[in-house]
Amino acid sequence: MTDDAVNALRAAQERYATERAKRIRPDGLDQYVLLDGQHEQFDRDPYADPDFARESIVEDTDAVILGGGFSGMLTAVELGRRGVESYRMIEKGGDFGGTWYWNRYPGCRCDVESYIYMPFLEETGYMPTEKYATAPEIFEHCQRIGTHFGLYEHALFQTEIETAAWSDDEHRWLITTTRGDQLRARFFVAAGGLLHKAKLPGIPGVGSYTGRTFHTARWDYAFTGGSPTEPMTELADKRVGIVGTGATAVQLVPQLARDAAEVFVFQRTPATVAVRRNGPTDEQWFRSLQSGWQTERMRNFTAAVSGEQPSPCLVDDGWIDLMWDNLQQRVDSPEEQKELDLLDFEVMQRLRDRVDAMVDDPATAEKLKPWYGKHCKRVCFHDEYLPAFNEPNVHLVDTDGAGVAEVGTGGPIVDGSVYDVDLLIFASGFEVTTPVVRRLGFDPVGRGGVTLSERWADGAHTLHGNQTAGFPNLLFVAIAQASSSSNFVHFITEATAHVAWIVASSLEDDVVAIEPEPEAEDEWLQFLWRKAAEGGDYMATCTPSYFNGEQGMSEQLARSVVYPGNVSGYADHLARWRAEGGTTGVRRLHASQEE
Ligand code: NDP
Repeated sequence: MTDDAVNALRAAQERYATERAKRIRPDGLDQYVLLDGQHEQFDRDPYADPDFARESIVEDTDAVILGGGFSGMLTAVELGRRGVESYRMIEKGGDFGGTWYWNRYPGCRCDVESYIYMPFLEETGYMPTEKYATAPEIFEHCQRIGTHFGLYEHALFQTEIETAAWSDDEHRWLITTTRGDQLRARFFVAAGGLLHKAKLPGIPGVGSYTGRTFHTARWDYAFTGGSPTEPMTELADKRVGIVGTGATAVQLVPQLARDAAEVFVFQRTPATVAVRRNGPTDEQWFRSLQSGWQTERMRNFTAAVSGEQPSPCLVDDGWIDLMWDNLQQRVDSPEEQKELDLLDFEVMQRLRDRVDAMVDDPATAEKLKPWYGKHCKRVCFHDEYLPAFNEPNVHLVDTDGAGVAEVGTGGPIVDGSVYDVDLLIFASGFEVTTPVVRRLGFDPVGRGGVTLSERWADGAHTLHGNQTAGFPNLLFVAIAQASSSSNFVHFITEATAHVAWIVASSLEDDVVAIEPEPEAEDEWLQFLWRKAAEGGDYMATCTPSYFNGEQGMSEQLARSVVYPGNVSGYADHLARWRAEGGTTGVRRLHASQEE
């Protein structure tokens, strides 16, 4: 490594530390508020039929699945594949889709390649139109999956679970809903998704703002005009403010730039915006793919973005460019660590240079540059976001790491200036690392009347991230103590197959109650912590985000550790557990033991 490189790296690391320090807040996760109580209007479903009504049902099933997004749908499909046909799906929204039901903001797409992100392309025969599909196309695919696999007949839409309690006498979960349903189920699968609970920064004065305001996951086309695919005609004479510059804002700002009279982008931390290079699907290539290609491509992508450098590398895109040399590579010496730090710095410097190349005004460009490591926040991919700041109607309001700290009746107030806007959009993200019960919206009651929030008062206790002691037959599709991925659908695919296996094999073996031994949970956590410690302390150097619990420190957050390595490694671990019979570390009560 040359002296120049060492000096450049050192200077960048100092800048990273300065920028990080500006953003550390004593309130950490508590800076955000849920869309309930006084903020309830932010959570109203603008898409569902408000007059929807149906009869309550009383039913006994093998499984109740919470969630009709990808996690819920894949759980249902996997259950069906294993012969379990008696199940109910409970979904708050008016249709399948989850993320893709809620996120209908203009410009919304998935920047993970559609060929590995959209599930069941082989089974449904669907060919995505583009490498990075639009939200409407993915939402439509959710309905295709629902129809193809016969999921609609199992679904209760516009319905939320109110209570769920385990009955040790009946070996059933007793579940009630907001529509008066009473369900008894042998298994209860919580598959509510990762990014389903929208959050707002608790900025003083938001409640006093008199203009129109909403979260990006509840888009109000009645106010903006247009649709996900048509210009927002009602904004032509409007001043619009947007709080947040994450992956959502990166997709949305160019659309606002196109349609609104004035756009004010309130920035706390600049996003990292890499090249997207979208394009239509090559039909000849797509039709030439051999059976099993989608699973192979998913695993290959996961390997490529975790530093395993597979050959061949099947996906050619920005994720690969950025993640080919990943920190998850085992580092055995300080010299190797320095090499890795330098590679990280070079990637980030390329992206900072991209800002200079795309943004005309040097002062604006400077403010749009990200000063943190490439794994600190989710990288975004877009080719129109940065050029939007060249438009005369788009104004960057940089808060130098402080964020918008006050909103008046007319709009945000920054450095004493009031920005009067007709519409204030919150692109402020979703709850990820907050306690699970807060995200579920109800508190499951396990054996002996113990609630999940009591059992998990100090954070998650699980075996493999999907079972917890004291709550027999409750299964989670969630990332804490499980795994995660740049292609979240890969994680969901593996996690739901595992959960469905537990349900089906238990039913087959007449197991009426299955739950982990507390000792096995402790061993699992110790294993995750040991492995995480080997991976170094990268996240501690990062600017706050949901990746690191806003840099908060608590046992709760420490217990939200995920499997170190990648989803394929996690899936292999689970596969070994299943191959050994799925009995290690769990108590299984058979029907015959009850007699
Ligand atoms: P994020 O949590 O990524 O971003 C929230 C934004 O709000 C951040 O820029 C944050 O700043 C900002 N913010 C919070 N409080 C304030 C404040 N008081 N003043 C100013 N700004 C504030 O949410 P997103 O909805 O953008 O993305 C969430 C996730 O959704 C992504 O990480 C990704 O996983 C997924 N997604 C995926 C897409 C895809 O293409 N696959 C597209 C869109 C989203 P700060 O950074 O300082 O915290």
